[in-house]
Amino acid sequence: MSGNKITIVGAGNVGATTAHIAASRRIGEIALLDIVKGLAEGKALDMAHAGPVQRYDGTIVGTTDWSKAEGSGIVVITSGLARKPGMSRDDLLAKNVQIVKEVSEKVAKFCPDSIVIVVSNPLDAMVYAAAKVTGFAKNRILGMAGALDAARFSHFVAEELGVSSEDVRGILMGGHGDDMVPLPRFTSVAGIPVTELLDGETIARLIERTRKGGIEIVDLLGSSAYYAPAAGVVKMAEAIVADSKAIMPCSAYCDREYDVGGYFVGVPVMLGKRGVERVVELKLEADERAEFDRSLEHVKQLAAKVDKLL
Ligand code: NAD
Repeated sequence: MSGNKITIVGAGNVGATTAHIAASRRIGEIALLDIVKGLAEGKALDMAHAGPVQRYDGTIVGTTDWSKAEGSGIVVITSGLARKPGMSRDDLLAKNVQIVKEVSEKVAKFCPDSIVIVVSNPLDAMVYAAAKVTGFAKNRILGMAGALDAARFSHFVAEELGVSSEDVRGILMGGHGDDMVPLPRFTSVAGIPVTELLDGETIARLIERTRKGGIEIVDLLGSSAYYAPAAGVVKMAEAIVADSKAIMPCSAYCDREYDVGGYFVGVPVMLGKRGVERVVELKLEADERAEFDRSLEHVKQLAAKVDKLL
């Protein structure tokens, strides 16, 4: 990556919350960008005012002007419509692909050396669109979903067991949809596989709640989640900025990996200053592989729709 500047596109719920968490974790210089005049400027100024209280310094610029994004090492794309009750993520595709296309063209022009983290839904399809439009090397384009879905799974496991969520390491794979593939065999509590601690029926219930975690919030709130998604983005950005080689599930380009054949889909990856530095290949059992293949098929269908629309 080319410097500790991060541009967040979209100053709505996810974008602004990402900017605030990133600022409070002193991640670097932040540019918050939106097409709505005044929105990013106002929110960035408000966040700057919180600095003396929350003890962070540094620049947070709100803007509609892409030239302010120049020099960014990371660009986070949150621009796009969010779900309302009764909608699936796939319902957003036609509108969001145009927004992601327009934004990706700007990213290629103003931030040609950046690593791009896509958040807009339907996630894996929007990562695919951003990769196509920017033409960036595949290690520099990734999507945030696994960090969120794994956090949801970890939270439910911690709640069920009454343990600290810090001790739970959840992992999952597949597309960011109701057919995501949580992997209890690889989920641990302080190193102990969750399968040793919870019975199959309980695990199945927590998996179901994880899969429906997004819609549970949409139904309560009337719009989609943003605190946990923003925290997921910042976790990824921190790993990239610190070159920490942290391993977490992200939507990443896989060709021979898992025999995916050239699509972006949720897999465990190692993150560092080059973005996706390695896809971690787990030995899946037949039922896990079947679930992954089902989810991948869905991802491929959405990518085909993107191909038609771009
Ligand atoms: P929001 O409506 O609060 O914010 C979206 C913002 O994007 C708005 O402020 C809008 O003005 C801006 N925008 C639209 N077009 C733009 C453009 N061309 N350039 C710059 N800004 C533009 O929505 P939200 O709740 O923040 O959600 C944003 C996206 O993230 C949605 O697509 C949502 O489905 C997705 N999302 C993904 C995850 C995930 O896990 N990947 C989680 C939550 C939300």
